[in-house]
Amino acid sequence: MKVIAYSTKGYDRSYLKKAGAEKHKFIFTEKRLTLETVFLANGCEAIALFTSDDASKEVLQKLSENGVKYIALRSAGHDHVDLKKAKELNISVANVPEYSPYSIAEHAVTLLMAINRKIIESQILMQLHDFRLDTLIGFDVHGKTVGIVGTGKIGMVFAKIMRGFGAIVLATDPVQNPEAEAVGIQYVLLKELVRKSDIISIHCPLNESSNNLFTRDQFAQMKKTCVLINTSRGGIINTEDLLEALEKGIIGAACLDVYDKEKGLFFEDHRNSILIDPNFARLRSFKNVIITGHQAFLTHEALTGIAQTTIHNLDCWEQGLDSPNGLYHTFKDESNDSAEMHRTIITI
Ligand code: NAD
Repeated sequence: MKVIAYSTKGYDRSYLKKAGAEKHKFIFTEKRLTLETVFLANGCEAIALFTSDDASKEVLQKLSENGVKYIALRSAGHDHVDLKKAKELNISVANVPEYSPYSIAEHAVTLLMAINRKIIESQILMQLHDFRLDTLIGFDVHGKTVGIVGTGKIGMVFAKIMRGFGAIVLATDPVQNPEAEAVGIQYVLLKELVRKSDIISIHCPLNESSNNLFTRDQFAQMKKTCVLINTSRGGIINTEDLLEALEKGIIGAACLDVYDKEKGLFFEDHRNSILIDPNFARLRSFKNVIITGHQAFLTHEALTGIAQTTIHNLDCWEQGLDSPNGLYHTFKDESNDSAEMHRTIITI
């Protein structure tokens, strides 16, 4: 099958090649999929996309007109694809539902401990030969209350790590995980989780129920010392409201691997340009904010898993089979009605 893989870096290419990309006719491009780059897919039956790509309605229409029938996502998240439109156009879409929940959960813990134990500041002071400790006081995670939003694959791994630290773990999820009780997770409504937690980590997808889930109202309920971690999707947090909460000292700190305006910013080399996003500049100005550029997935094991499932999805389609990771069912689950129901359940 002729496939163009958009937004591919050197590491994507090498892992895809190791996973058997030679079985297909791959074209690799660093370019993101946008309306301007759709033409690169001319003559391809399939495209392989990352989270930075834009598979919106208009783009899908053009892809379909150019003969694209399959979209293999190199990610678990699929909020960058208009699944309704894809279905209408009869374009099959499959994702990589599971590749290493450890990579993301461990990154969330890394961000938490880096901000808590002031690792960046300590390293800068060390390089300046300033060995004073006055500004570096952290807290024990042991005995703290950790709130987890979304107890799927990643949320469960994060919960187990936090239990290992000796934390009390609360969670909210419209679908309770049957393993949660054995791990010692207590389900509560979002409202209670927000009020009681010392640390909140977001591990749900960006969908209608979670879009803008964290706004001024939630921040107002949080402890002044609360550390908010987001390794899921930027759109789950209202950035303006987060900035206000940080500026007014309403919350303690933020650990971010994702950002609502990250498209076109993250994954690229902007060293020779001026960044003109004022919210991003403001976020970067806080000592109590740590940001990584959507790198939580970047481990050897995760990249191997992503590449293998992507190739498997393409293999299935080439053999005339449905991919086991097809996403149309997800689109059905996320109808407005059920999304509204989720929001009601979670935010009562
Ligand atoms: P998953 O499908 O296993 O679990 C998601 C859980 O969230 C489910 O249990 C679901 O019921 C729950 N959920 C849905 N809406 C919710 C809401 N409004 N409130 C609370 N819970 C809700 O997914 P996963 O594999 O654990 O991944 C979670 C998310 O992590 C992905 O959707 C993706 O956005 C993000 N992710 C980020 C990276 C990264 O590199 N930063 C990498 C992979 C995944």
